[in-house]
Amino acid sequence: MDSITELIAEGKGKKVYATENPDEAIVFYRDETYAYHGLKRGRIIGKGEINNLICEHMFTMLKEKGVPNHFIRRIDKTSSLVKRVDIIPVSVKVRNIVAGSLAKRIGYPDGTHLKNTVVEYNLKYPELEDPLVNITHITAVELATREELDVMFGYALKVNEILKETMKEIGIELIDFKLEFGRYHGQILLADEVSPDTCRFWDSRTHEPLDIDRFRHELGNVEEAYHEVLHRLTGNVLKNNEEEA
Ligand code: 5GP
Repeated sequence: MDSITELIAEGKGKKVYATENPDEAIVFYRDETYAYHGLKRGRIIGKGEINNLICEHMFTMLKEKGVPNHFIRRIDKTSSLVKRVDIIPVSVKVRNIVAGSLAKRIGYPDGTHLKNTVVEYNLKYPELEDPLVNITHITAVELATREELDVMFGYALKVNEILKETMKEIGIELIDFKLEFGRYHGQILLADEVSPDTCRFWDSRTHEPLDIDRFRHELGNVEEAYHEVLHRLTGNVLKNNEEEA
């Protein structure tokens, strides 16, 4: 394994370290999390290990289906080797059903079906609470080019189609999700993570959330929800921190 050098990014659920290879980085998934821009903090036991396995599954599947991404391989229980991209400071949210900040912004109740897919852009400026912007803002301040945004938009819709279908097969409705992209030797790669930390997953039958909203809204059974998504997606069951097929 490459030896790590410096911490290059720290997110809600993970830390990213540079390695001696300038083209690679190592992601360490953590049990720690927070919500409401850091106002609510906590720990979801097993989340780091579960998200590492879910991301391995998601990124491998997305690559096979034509969405290039940063994933190289899983290293151990809680870490993975990835391509070291230059993260574009704009996150892309894709929404199929109203929930979360969209419900608040437009005043429609959670669960309202959207006639078409909604794609939103937020600047990754936590000190400004990640403001919602449109494409002309992004190109005007030169955070990404129109061409890069077109590629990101195309991949975001493709991820939506692939994930919706995959989750439907395991009895889960894909409500919305957030993606991040990076530049890597002239290519745009999907980066960050695709997990219950970044997606809203509702059980298709009960409409119960199976994601980070259980922590955000103190709905209980948070760990169980993460285990459930991993199990339905990969067949894996984690017992006492041991992985079983
Ligand atoms: P909303 O804008 O409704 O809060 O979130 C839309 C989607 O993006 C949800 O699936 C939510 O979990 C995800 N999301 C929103 N903000 C963040 C964030 O700061 N970090 C991560 N990882 N996901 C986020």
